[in-house]
Amino acid sequence: MFDPAIVCHGGAGHGAKDQPGVDEATSFGWAKLKQGGSALEAAIAAVVMMENDPSLNAGTGGRIRSDGSVQLDAAIMTNDGRFGAVTCIEQTKNPILVAEKILDKKINMLAGRGAREFADTLDIPRDEVEGSINPSGNDTVGAIARDSSGLIVVASSTGGCTGRPPGRIGDTPLIGAGLWCGEFVGVSATGIGEEITLKMPCVRISDRVSTGNDIAASLNWGINQFNSDIEVGFIALGPQGEGIGVANTKMPWSSES
Ligand code: ASP
Repeated sequence: MFDPAIVCHGGAGHGAKDQPGVDEATSFGWAKLKQGGSALEAAIAAVVMMENDPSLNAGTGGRIRSDGSVQLDAAIMTNDGRFGAVTCIEQTKNPILVAEKILDKKINMLAGRGAREFADTLDIPRDEVEGSINPSGNDTVGAIARDSSGLIVVASSTGGCTGRPPGRIGDTPLIGAGLWCGEFVGVSATGIGEEITLKMPCVRISDRVSTGNDIAASLNWGINQFNSDIEVGFIALGPQGEGIGVANTKMPWSSES
């Protein structure tokens, strides 16, 4: 038996005004775990709640691309070896629900038109996604949950960085870069996607924790891989169920265990 736990974040660069939305999502995911729900249910519930919160700017409020479109990325990884992601999906308010359905497929990532057509087969409605009301900035939300069976699930969703071209893919849906789930530790990143992708930090942080390094020290090591003017943040859930967030900028995060 493992102690259930959850940790969520609302994106590097977001400040105290967005803390309540992250707290609410964490509490919602935590309630699922307390009711005996799986880590998958809890992480998805938390991310859906944040995707539906326009101030958090994933899903419903995703960032607007240079051509005016809203193209969204979402990914899920589990410690029982599954991965599912969508990238540059349009007309979809909750891309995390499409990523979830890919988890048990032979393929593990779908982009653009193919991702949306896959969502059509699941009767996930096509909706107009208006995009962020904020003129600039970046966006990612993330949740990591562990249930009493020891299943760990990392789930992340993003509108990307404002003004990037259509078709641009940041770190969020990229395994090892934007998220990683080791046997006993999950990690999720937020910040400037191109920089994060280059450093592959989530798998490297997870490896450090898995080889006995302190989780907070490992996250700080991850932050230190970046110049201080590159906005970056991480959340992680460690072997003792400890949820923690570290960033070199503001980043709302919260945990329950
Ligand atoms: N990492 C995201 C991206 O580059 C944005 C963010 O987390 O702020 O797409």
